[in-house]
Amino acid sequence: MMKRKILLDESEIPTHWYNVIADMPNKPLPPLHPGTQEPIGPEALAPLFPMELIRQEVSGEKYIEIPDQVRDIYKLWRCTPMYRAHGLEAALDSPARIFYKYEGGSPAGSHKPNTAVAQAYYNKQEGVKKITTETGAGQWGSALSFACNVFDLACEVYMVKISYQQKPYRKSLMNTWGATVHASPTDQTQAGRKILEADPDSPGSLGIAISEAVEMAAADEQTKYALGSVLNHVLLHQTVVGQEAVKQMEMAGYLPDIVVAPFGGGSNFAGISFPFLRLNIEEGQKIRCIASEPASCPKLTRGVFRYDFGDTVGMTPLLPMYTLGHDFVPAPIHAGGLRYHGAGVIVSQLLKDQLIEAVAHKQLECFEAGVLFSKTEGIVPAPETTHAIATAIREAKRCKEEGKAETILIHLCGHGYFDLKAYEDYLAGKLVEHEVTSDEIKASLAKLDTPVPE
Ligand SMILES: *Cc1c(COP(=O)(O)O)cnc(C)c1O
Repeated sequence: MMKRKILLDESEIPTHWYNVIADMPNKPLPPLHPGTQEPIGPEALAPLFPMELIRQEVSGEKYIEIPDQVRDIYKLWRCTPMYRAHGLEAALDSPARIFYKYEGGSPAGSHKPNTAVAQAYYNKQEGVKKITTETGAGQWGSALSFACNVFDLACEVYMVKISYQQKPYRKSLMNTWGATVHASPTDQTQAGRKILEADPDSPGSLGIAISEAVEMAAADEQTKYALGSVLNHVLLHQTVVGQEAVKQMEMAGYLPDIVVAPFGGGSNFAGISFPFLRLNIEEGQKIRCIASEPASCPKLTRGVFRYDFGDTVGMTPLLPMYTLGHDFVPAPIHAGGLRYHGAGVIVSQLLKDQLIEAVAHKQLECFEAGVLFSKTEGIVPAPETTHAIATAIREAKRCKEEGKAETILIHLCGHGYFDLKAYEDYLAGKLVEHEVTSDEIKASLAKLDTPVPE
């Protein structure tokens, strides 16, 4: 019988997070103050984040120890399984070997609790009482709601309005874990009111919801803010995924030629790919790490490398990243978690240095891939995750044309059981193809008056 699952015992949960910065040939450029545009130090982040997370944000240490209490909570769902996708391989009739690492078995159904638990832990340690955050598709909001409940912290979530309407059950999940959820933009913050004045029917965006959550946290000393992607410490926490995956690929007897993950702000991509990138850097391996983004929000493939704000209103520090411009509002595609204008600083530098690759897919190709995966492997993937599956299918087809038996590893970072409305619309033929035009990108970038990195 052919093996389908490659499993690790909970005793093999990594003891450290891997910090790729230590191995980067060109280190990320410093963040700049949003007003003065001068480089800022870690202390500028103190109103928003606990000190230990700020320390991790700027750390150059290669390995950072995972606290025992965090590892103990990880045991609820880690180590996560890896599967050989025999069903998908057969359907594609390709010589490519396809594996996937499945994070959908976590409490919130995605990779996000890996960092939510760590962030809630450090906030609790430092006496914080409440955490505010934003959420797009609802996955980050549910992960943080779960983690705050574990550590008895209050949790307030600003959920992008279009998702709030499309995914009512994500909100119920957050409420079940004890969190309060607002449809963003709200009239309770200055940032929200400013957006509503300009457009009372604004569908919201991640950038707007971040502005609201940051404003609420900055206004109260016992309240801090948490981000589910983009920042260095978030990417760091996700490396438990890739470290397990390196071991599991060794057990399977294959080193991947390609590691592919969907890309919103970079956390799940970093989580699975950085430990493989370490093998490229340390051992001279040539593993291709590919980030898959939506054609309607293509910051990596069609954006510019530029200092930009992380939010829409311009309250966060300026970060050197690939961006479409901070007030770019992506079309309301169903992959809500990928509707973000920018990208994490580390991933942006790696892409600039050509150490990783990026591709974009339109919505229908992704759902077609998601349905094929559901039929052949049984798991219904999150709409975000279908982007990586679409890339893997493209690569497997290339392998067939070239007669190559390459090994492809997909990050199956979340399930889609709260996203069935999206599948329903797709199956009913109601989903429209969408790709942002060059004029739209040009218009958004023309508004940027932020510094160009040297
Ligand atoms: C949040 C999310 C994403 C996008 O965010 P990243 O930080 O880029 O990982 C992608 N897939 C799933 C399932 C998510 O929950």
